[in-house]
Amino acid sequence: MAAAAMSTPTRPKAKLHPRNPHQGRYDFTALTRALPALASYTKANPSGEPTIDFSDADAVRTLNKALLCQYYQVAFWELPEGYLCPPIPGRADYMHHIADLLADTTHQNDAGTPPTGKQIHALDIGTGASCIYPIIGAQSYGWRFTATDVDPISVQTAKVIVQANPALKNAIKVKQQTQPEHIFKGIIGRQDYFDITLCNPPFQGSLDEAMNANTRKRQKLSRHQQKRGSTSASNSASESDALNFGGQKKELWIAGGEIGFLRQMINESVEVTAHVGWFTTLVSKSDNLRPLKKLLQEVNASDVRVIDMTHGQKITRILAWRFPDPSE
Ligand code: SAH
Repeated sequence: MAAAAMSTPTRPKAKLHPRNPHQGRYDFTALTRALPALASYTKANPSGEPTIDFSDADAVRTLNKALLCQYYQVAFWELPEGYLCPPIPGRADYMHHIADLLADTTHQNDAGTPPTGKQIHALDIGTGASCIYPIIGAQSYGWRFTATDVDPISVQTAKVIVQANPALKNAIKVKQQTQPEHIFKGIIGRQDYFDITLCNPPFQGSLDEAMNANTRKRQKLSRHQQKRGSTSASNSASESDALNFGGQKKELWIAGGEIGFLRQMINESVEVTAHVGWFTTLVSKSDNLRPLKKLLQEVNASDVRVIDMTHGQKITRILAWRFPDPSE
């Protein structure tokens, strides 16, 4: 509480989950202690507070490394040039919200307490080169993860990150999805059980759309910087979420767009109901919610929930569904 009282955020705080450790402004003193290399990217904003240039990919990557070091005991995290560098506060929020979902609905649990430890097995669809969700989930709750991707370079990079960090080695298994048209098929075996699946889906419908969206993001960042009369954006965790960009074009787009990908996911979820407790995914386009909910009704999902998340100016949501428990 004392620390919160001392910091004076210039903008209203985004509503991050209460257990999310990345509230308010980044603490550059602590982060630089965790990773001294961050010092060379740190500069003062117009109010004299430390920040980085959020349009500089190297600076953003180094900030992420410092966050991973300080909060998640991950000392080695290297991405190939141009690959998606995920804003960590927002990614952490997804984990804490699904921990609540498990807390509310897992039988063996004390009501309201998120389950921890390796008995919880989670499946991350499209983990990216960063392996970000498994890292946050394993280190925040001790869960076990299987992580998939269709991109061989992402799979290889994620594997190297896992092997290089002793804390992750026994917690995360990375698998190549060799059939890009599938989500769970070829991944969930007959012996497998996952308490929860999660996904940040590729959301653009074409390469053009992905490129235009990236251009719009850059323009927004540049306008934001001009308004502030500085090359440095705010150091608020939630604001930089809204401003961050990057990513291989192919990481961000999929034929059929987000809706096509998620329809496929829902249709495949019907085939593996006995192997999964909760299915979840981010839905970045709000217009997609209604048709997806309709499809979930058609396939007889027994429980469908939408969990809103606000990060800076960006609103996204988690769609979660499950099927009747055959043992009940
Ligand atoms: N989870 C990461 C990356 C999200 S980008 C993050 O949040 O930052 C979406 C990812 O989904 C990309 O890495 C892409 O290669 C992967 N992907 C696309 N189709 C897939 C499929 N059928 N199965 C698994 N991963 C897929």
